Amino acid sequence: MKYVLITGANKSIGLETARQLLQHGYYVYLGSRDLQNGQQAVDQLHSEGLPNVEPIQLDVADSASITAARQALGRKTPVLDVLINNAGILGGMSQPTLSTSVDLIKQVFETNVFGVIAVTQAFSDLLRQSAEPRIVNVTTGLASLTLHHDPSWRYYNITGAAYHPSKAALNAYTVMLAQELRDTPFKVNAVDPGYTATDFNHHSGPGSVPEAATRVVKAALLASDGPTGQFFSDDNAPETGISPW
Ligand code: NAP
Repeated sequence: MKYVLITGANKSIGLETARQLLQHGYYVYLGSRDLQNGQQAVDQLHSEGLPNVEPIQLDVADSASITAARQALGRKTPVLDVLINNAGILGGMSQPTLSTSVDLIKQVFETNVFGVIAVTQAFSDLLRQSAEPRIVNVTTGLASLTLHHDPSWRYYNITGAAYHPSKAALNAYTVMLAQELRDTPFKVNAVDPGYTATDFNHHSGPGSVPEAATRVVKAALLASDGPTGQFFSDDNAPETGISPW
C-alpha cells in the first residue's frame, strides 16, 4: 500500500483528491488545520466505505504544527509516497497591484509559498524512503507569466498582487525542486486543477470538484517514466495539458 499526505484536505479539492486516491488503494493522511474538521471529513469517507484514511492536524502556516505533524506521521509510517501541497488561500477577490496591503500579500505567500516549502522540507526524508516519490504542488493557471502577456488569453484581465504572484513563486520553487531531484526517482510537478466551484471563489468556477481532483490525482499517480518539473493545466493548454510558465 502507498501512503499519501494531502494538505488542506478537509474539504473541496483536497477532500475529493483524498477520496479518489483512496479509491486507487492509497492510505491517506488527511491534513487539516482544524482537527475537528479533518475528523468530520474522515468520518464522511469512512461512511462511504473508505476506511484507509486518518486525520492529521497540519496548519501549513504554522511551523510548530508542521513539526508536530512530521513527528506524528513518523510514528505511524516510515515512508511517504506522495505529498500533495493543496492548501491554499486566495486573499480576497480584488487585489489591485498598487493598493493591496503588503500585510495581505505576506499572508498569502505564507500559506501558498512558504507553507509549501516548509512542509516539503519537513516531509522530504519520509518521501526519500519511497521507491517512487511524488510531489504535487497545486497551483493555478493564473500563475502563467507567459500567458499574462497574451491579450487574447481568456484570463488576461484577471490580475492580482497577492494570489497570482504567490502561485508563480510556487511554480518557480517547483521547477527548482524538480531540477535538484532530477537524478532521483522523484516526480515533482505543479498542477492547475482548473477554475472550480468551491468555497475558494464563492462557487463561481465552472469546473466540478471531481474533475479538478482528477487532475491532481493524475500527477500523484505518474509512472516512473512520467514527466517531472511540469506545469500541468488543461485550462491553459487543452491540447497538450502543459501550460507555459
Ligand atoms: P477551498 O475550498 O478554499 O479549500 C482550501 C483548503 O485549504 C481548506 O481545507 C482550507 O482549510 C485549507 N487551508 C487554507 N489555509 C491553510 C493552512 N494555513 N494550513 C492548512 N490548510 C489550509 O479551496 P479549493 O478550491 O479546494 O483550492 C485548493 C487548492 O486549489 C488551492 O491551493 C487553490 O489555490 C487551488 N486552486 C483552486 C482553484 C479553484 O477555482 N477553486 C483554481 C486554481 C487553483 P480550512 O477549511 O480550515 O479553511
